[in-house]
Amino acid sequence: MSPELDRLIKLQQLDSTIEDARRRIAAHPDRLADADTRLSEAKQRVDGAKQRLKDNQEARRALEKDAAVFQGRVGKFKDQLSEVKTNREYQAIQHEIETAQKDLGVVEEKVLEQMLDADTITADVKQAEGLLAAEQKAVEAEKAALTRELASVEAAMKEASEARASLVAQTDPTLIAMFEQVARARKGVAICAATRDGLCSACHVRLRPQVFQEVRRNDAIIQCFSCNRILYYVPPPAQAEPAVTHT
Ligand SMILES: [Zn+2]
Repeated sequence: MSPELDRLIKLQQLDSTIEDARRRIAAHPDRLADADTRLSEAKQRVDGAKQRLKDNQEARRALEKDAAVFQGRVGKFKDQLSEVKTNREYQAIQHEIETAQKDLGVVEEKVLEQMLDADTITADVKQAEGLLAAEQKAVEAEKAALTRELASVEAAMKEASEARASLVAQTDPTLIAMFEQVARARKGVAICAATRDGLCSACHVRLRPQVFQEVRRNDAIIQCFSCNRILYYVPPPAQAEPAVTHT
């Protein structure tokens, strides 16, 4: 293979490595933010469950106040009962006592419901706290892994950039300019292999037989007539069986 073609293939590999690293570095803040979002969602679930528990306790206290009022009313009427003079008065107060007791019963029933709800909500709080603790651990581990990954991607990018600079220094500048121009026009890919049946592997046009013959020699810079990418050829791996020979 011609040294120029060989350098351009390496240049393409380095550019792909650099582009991949750039993309991963750019995605890093979003990946950290995703982890933080998961954590804050878990926190919100805990806060939500705790708020429901608080609301439940407040409702229960209010109901207990109501119960105390009705209880007081029952007691007051019972006191009055001992002082009544007439049967009619007695019946009226008796009726008041029954009403107050009925009201008290309704409120006590509600208190009981709130207590049962409180058990469920307390279990929800515990479960949400357990999930939060697990998420905290997972996010911590994920962030540590992301930080390590970022460091290694940055190192790979630095290494590839240095290798690229030295490769560019060794290569004909007009060739580099041509390579970069094609790369800009073709989503970063300036060089590609021709397939064994004579197609450009990037744009899939069929090369003219004579051009394909030249590409196969790998000793000149030949561009695809359709996409302008520089073409090279990877010969099939040598057959293991010695019976197949090329003469
Ligand atoms: Zn092409």
